Amino acid sequence: MRAAVVTKLGAPLEVRDVPTPEPAAGQVLVRLEASGICHTDIHAANGDWPVKPTPPFVPGHEGVGVVEAVGEGVDPARVGTRVAIPWLGHACGECSYCVSGWETLCEQQRNTGYSTDGCYAERTVADARYAVPVPDGVSSTDAAPLTCAGVTTYKAVKVAGVRPAERVAVFGIGGLGHLALQYARIAGGFTTAVDVEDDKLALARDLGADHTVNARTTDPVAAVQALRGVDVAIATAASPRSFEQAFACLRRGGRLVCVGLPAGGVLPIPVFDLVLKGITVIGSIVGTRQDLAEVFALHAAGRTRVIARTRKLDEVNESFAEVLSGRVPARLVIEF
Ligand code: NAD
Ligand code: ZN
Ligand code: ZN
Repeated sequence: MRAAVVTKLGAPLEVRDVPTPEPAAGQVLVRLEASGICHTDIHAANGDWPVKPTPPFVPGHEGVGVVEAVGEGVDPARVGTRVAIPWLGHACGECSYCVSGWETLCEQQRNTGYSTDGCYAERTVADARYAVPVPDGVSSTDAAPLTCAGVTTYKAVKVAGVRPAERVAVFGIGGLGHLALQYARIAGGFTTAVDVEDDKLALARDLGADHTVNARTTDPVAAVQALRGVDVAIATAASPRSFEQAFACLRRGGRLVCVGLPAGGVLPIPVFDLVLKGITVIGSIVGTRQDLAEVFALHAAGRTRVIARTRKLDEVNESFAEVLSGRVPARLVIEF
């Protein structure tokens, strides 16, 4: 089978023939139909973060496909069903995090396309318990971005506790941000979209944003403070500066949710402002299987729109360059 392989951190991926994996006990073998390109995959291939993946590996954690075979102990009725393979590829199921609804914090977790081979491949194996069923009303091309960008920002809106009529700023209207905006609106928030590309801001308006700010040409802090600040700021851009701006846009009692993971990012926070304004800073990592099921249910009901363009596996390196150029509206999805 064909797969895109990171052979060396920082080098272009190699699209080559690799052996088709066999499903071990507890696993499913999935024939992929669609595989989203998350900015995390670019960080992974570059080795941007403190915990680095070990080449060779196959990135990709927005995989959607059909179960072709099951390993020992997995219900054979799953063959022929569609599943999504997210970043949380495996968790222990028994630790205090797992049993309290925080499987995303499990210390035994394995991450698809980072610590195990992922979904930039014609086939992959996945832990059957963490492969989430995709409902009929959701196409595979739409399901792919929902599997990371969707679940991550849905969770971010949940942990922010956005309430009706609160003001929410979303920094970065890319794969994650275009969905963050929609979940903030579903929660009842008034939204401001901040990006550095006019096309992304046009997309944000099309998706219902109440205000847009181009941070390349306008100071977003001044612009948002002129609108009396926001209750919630969701930082999704891979730019350390935008985290500082997101913090400075908050009104008293505000919540900053950090979602983007810029290489070497550090967030300097003035303690005085944090304390006197009663601000909360939250880190938010993906979402649970239940969160993803809710994301799919909202999409099947027509409550969200996925904006994506499709690419071929052979175009993976060009696709990475497109994402980095900021000119992708809003997600690229490899179709098989
Ligand atoms: P993306 O490239 O699709 O989107 C990023 C957007 O930010 C683009 O629209 C870009 O134009 C915009 N941008 C760039 N600089 C900006 C700035 N200074 N101000 C405002 N906007 C700016 O990326 P993505 O796939 O949405 O991922 C974003 C980040 O989130 C990545 O760092 C990724 O690793 C991280 N991520 C985190 C989680 C999590 O669970 N916390 C999950 C998935 C991805
Ligand atoms: Zn656990
Ligand atoms: Zn992701």
